[in-house]
Amino acid sequence: MRISVVVPCFNEEAGLEDLYAALMRTLPSVGEDFEVLLVDDGSTDGTLPRLRLLAERDQRFKYLALSRNFGKEAAMLAGLGHATGDLVAIMDADLQHPPELLERMVALIGTGYDQVIARRTRRGEARVRTLVSTVYYKLINKVIDVELQNGVGDFRVLSRRAVQALLSLGEYNRFSKGLFSWIGFDTAVIDYDNVVRRNGNSSWTLRKLFNYGIDGVVSFNSKPLRVAIYLGALVTAIAFGYAIWVLVNAVWHGVDVPGYVTLMCGVLVLGGLQLLFLGVIGEYVGRIYSESKRRPHFLVKESAGTGPTPVTLPL
Ligand code: UDP
Ligand code: MG
Repeated sequence: MRISVVVPCFNEEAGLEDLYAALMRTLPSVGEDFEVLLVDDGSTDGTLPRLRLLAERDQRFKYLALSRNFGKEAAMLAGLGHATGDLVAIMDADLQHPPELLERMVALIGTGYDQVIARRTRRGEARVRTLVSTVYYKLINKVIDVELQNGVGDFRVLSRRAVQALLSLGEYNRFSKGLFSWIGFDTAVIDYDNVVRRNGNSSWTLRKLFNYGIDGVVSFNSKPLRVAIYLGALVTAIAFGYAIWVLVNAVWHGVDVPGYVTLMCGVLVLGGLQLLFLGVIGEYVGRIYSESKRRPHFLVKESAGTGPTPVTLPL
């Protein structure tokens, strides 16, 4: 069996040598043959020159350089699209995904699974973050149609048909956690301890995490729109009831002038709800817009060792 390892790299200059060493310690014993596909996601440091050197040193290390920073999702997709192995592993460049696990993961694929996921335990992480993500996953799994697991990232090994399935999903806004789950197939999970990043910095900011959370909800269904309908109906019903009460009151007892509080409450509640759900609708409209443009997910500016680039993906 031939194994492809896809590694998205964004400003990973400092860690590439470590990555090479770690992969060379494990990969030769994992499969019959392997290739490592490093995808430079528009890094601004010396990542690309280092990838060139690596590819020269070892033919099994290939690289693709995207024309700018397209984001990790696009970089992974580029790697998957160019991988030629019977199995494809996806892992981070910062060694937070320990390559030593690959052996066990590949062995599991051999027993008939199409996806083997490595799940990170949350040890060593800030308490608040653990709490927030636990609550988030509880909530999101109530809302969306596919199952997302806490601690499960992009570290996984996929069979060829799982890769083809992923490549056949042509959507522009890719929320890969959901896509991996959406394609289904038999999936095995193994656990590993959280590893702290050794070189460089995580590119996640609080704002990015927040946006990622919203992506998770709206990428996989339109239930927030349904919520808008229900809440709108509820508020309308209450408003109608109240209007009738005010009318009857005015007819029977004469016009009741002091109504500032109720008036303001009504205006503010309705105004707030309307803005909120305009935002929700806007989110979906924006997605329809970006999907409808059918732009390629990424552009390649340079590569070594890989085949020609499918500019657009098979749909
Ligand atoms: N990454 C990428 N493009 C980006 C951001 C990140 O290809 O725009 C890569 C990065 O080089 C690393 C992986 O995605 O290999 C995970 O990124 P990071 O370590 O910053 O995320 P974290 O581990 O904190 O979730
Ligand atoms: Mg990391």
